Amino acid sequence: MNHTVRTRFAPSPTGLLHLGNARTALFAWLAARHAGPDGRAVLRIEDTDLARHQEAAIAALTADLAWLGLDFDEGPGRAGPYAPYRQSERLDRHAAAATALLDAGHAYPCFCTDEELEAHRALARASGRPPRYAGTCRELDASARAARVAAGRVASLRFAVPSRRVVTFADAVHGEQRVATSELGDFVIQRRDGTPTFLFANAVDDADMAITLALRGEDHLANTPRQLLVLEALGRPAPRYGHLPLVHGAQGPLSKRDGAASVGDLRTAGYLPLAVVNYLARLGHSGYPDGLLSHAELAAGFALGHLGRAPARFDLTQLAHFQKLAVQALDSDTFLAWLAASGVDITVIPIAARAGFVAAVRGNVSLPSEAGRWTTRLYAAELAFSAEALSLLGTTPRALFEAALAAGAEPELDAVTAAVQAATGARGPALFRPLRAALTGELAGPDLKAWWRLLPADRRLARLRQALTHAL
Ligand code: GLU
Repeated sequence: MNHTVRTRFAPSPTGLLHLGNARTALFAWLAARHAGPDGRAVLRIEDTDLARHQEAAIAALTADLAWLGLDFDEGPGRAGPYAPYRQSERLDRHAAAATALLDAGHAYPCFCTDEELEAHRALARASGRPPRYAGTCRELDASARAARVAAGRVASLRFAVPSRRVVTFADAVHGEQRVATSELGDFVIQRRDGTPTFLFANAVDDADMAITLALRGEDHLANTPRQLLVLEALGRPAPRYGHLPLVHGAQGPLSKRDGAASVGDLRTAGYLPLAVVNYLARLGHSGYPDGLLSHAELAAGFALGHLGRAPARFDLTQLAHFQKLAVQALDSDTFLAWLAASGVDITVIPIAARAGFVAAVRGNVSLPSEAGRWTTRLYAAELAFSAEALSLLGTTPRALFEAALAAGAEPELDAVTAAVQAATGARGPALFRPLRAALTGELAGPDLKAWWRLLPADRRLARLRQALTHAL
């Protein structure tokens, strides 16, 4: 049970698994798997700030992680050595840690009301100072505290930030960091209602769960010196922190306008988990070789030193590249199951033709909807020609399709093209492009010989007759 590398993903279950968070989860998981048997990946749900339990959000998040193939070793619903893994079930530990800090003089009760605090902040802003807590309650002596309690005032607990210190730490992504404690101000660790603040619970849980590496979003970088001070005061070891740059869209925060913002968006669109994982792994981590890598290969090549500091920009064309590779790698049955799961009606494909169908169209498919288009072009009674195909048909002499129709009973396309060439003299692109337009309705697509074999005999003739009506 002594794992030397314990990483964690600690999401707040506010809704969909955003791609930025998915990437954090992936890197945390890869860092643990990179360590082999010495590594453990922990999932901790940080649900203390939520007004209500978010069962549905937690279930969706867990499902998204499982879909990505990220099997965390410890997490909610598992009997791990550091259970429970839901922060809301660990409140007694946070309270005990807060009390320990209070008893040791590292924390003090703060009786300031919201109005007083706001007034202080306004004053600081007006005089150009940062709106830090002024330390009003830090110096209260025992009798002053007792008087406030007697007057019915309820206290929060603030951490007493030591003065004239510089907190230093080596961020796994951003390198050496130095922050003077004079910049911090005493911060709340326990609210008036007794609940812990995010910053406090997060640090205590990391220590309690023996986390060695905490990868998280860059938005938490400013919390780190405070958390390090808390852990030091508690006499607990701190994890190594690494703050990942945010994932942006084309114009600011990643949103649906960028094609997708969450794992769910990609899943619904028909992206394959291996494509998503390969893409996300490259987003902010350099040094992976080209090509589709398995989870194990991604883990083997993972290195903290390869995490970059530059903001990452989500790029659908890069994802599409990995999607193509992932689709190529599917075996026939999995390919068909993927289509069926995405709502493509594969029952129109005769069972005996299915392997041939997959072989013919796979290279032209990156999303299930595209395969759906090819099934329609193969099996629908009428073909809907693309505009380009239609205009090519309009410039093709009727004789070409008449000759093809005459040879339309041939089981192989070679025999058809030979007959057309003999009858009309057409050859090369002048022969194949109109035939492709006639048989597939488009100017580009699967191999035409394979297509001819797949087309049911009556559809071959129907397509050619339909083309004839548009010909010159
Ligand atoms: N619950 C925090 C979040 O979702 C996690 C911060 C951390 O990983 O330390 O942003």
